[in-house]
Amino acid sequence: DKYFADPLRYDGGMKFERCGRSGVMLPKVSLGFWHNFGGVDSYERSREITHYAFDHGVVHFDLANNYGPPYGSAEETMGRLMDDDFAPYRDELFISTKAGYDMWPGPYGNWGSRKYLMASLDQSLKRMHLDYVDLFYSHRYDPETPLEETLQALVDIVRSGKALYVGISRWPLEATKFAEQYLRERDVPMLIYQGRLNMLDRAPQEEGILDFCAEKGIGFISFSPLAQGLLTDRYLNGIPADSRMSKGKFLKESMLTEELLAKLRTYNKQAQEQGKPLSQMALEWILQQRGVTSVLVGASSAQQLQKNLLCVNS
Ligand code: NDP
Repeated sequence: DKYFADPLRYDGGMKFERCGRSGVMLPKVSLGFWHNFGGVDSYERSREITHYAFDHGVVHFDLANNYGPPYGSAEETMGRLMDDDFAPYRDELFISTKAGYDMWPGPYGNWGSRKYLMASLDQSLKRMHLDYVDLFYSHRYDPETPLEETLQALVDIVRSGKALYVGISRWPLEATKFAEQYLRERDVPMLIYQGRLNMLDRAPQEEGILDFCAEKGIGFISFSPLAQGLLTDRYLNGIPADSRMSKGKFLKESMLTEELLAKLRTYNKQAQEQGKPLSQMALEWILQQRGVTSVLVGASSAQQLQKNLLCVNS
């Protein structure tokens, strides 16, 4: 069945926020493809989530070369979605991808070399059936590769037209400062920093990343804003069989200590007192922090995404 986007997709209440000092507006809620979009997942389910997203103004989709599993398959899903549904809407979408973690065997499929970044982006474009991405990230800081090499690759990627903007993810503050200056001096200003900020993990705030981004006009997008589902009602009464903690390897049962559960129950009680679900309170908290542009949520169903959009209008 053919997809026709909802004509009222920008009238349903999504709010857009300027990304630092740039021309780019991002939806306050963006959608991540780390889980639920791989070759192991149901294509129809992934498709339904993206339709719900786009129909409600969630126009920013965030990917990386190795999202899946298997590696590359989330981008292949994106490519299939472009063919099936989204090609007519390409210019309404803001699509990002990244390279930096393990992707293919050997020394050229990991970390931060020019060799890796250039080849990886070419592969990503092929898998996604795109001519360019809106945003390309260095997915992590590489302590071995000269920062100049990684950053010059980002500059050249923008000059080649394969990405419109660049960003960095999970870089420490000092390297971020170096990157900001290097990129600015070459007229390819850093659009955005992607880091983990949520009620359970405030490192980017404590380390000064958020303040630095705010001062320099760099956007900030928060990944795992629900701490992979912990900051929802998902684990308050046991571990559901269909949850990430049951199925995946990234959210371990050992994390769910009595101490953490007590904290989650306290947060849940606060949320109830405010008449909202914990997930909504958790996302609102992030959006209230200085310098935050968007929360980058994951969802295993359109219903979860719907619930996650409640934070937009508070
Ligand atoms: P979240 O913290 O939003 O966790 C998403 C998961 O939580 C869902 O898959 C679902 O898991 C559960 N969930 C979501 N909404 C609800 C709800 N309303 N009620 C109950 N459970 C809910 O984000 P992710 O950890 O998925 O990360 C989001 C995105 O951030 C990624 O897709 C990726 O794009 C990016 N990211 C970037 C990283 C980086 O290094 N730059 C690292 C990690 C993520 P369940 O399966 O249990 O239903």
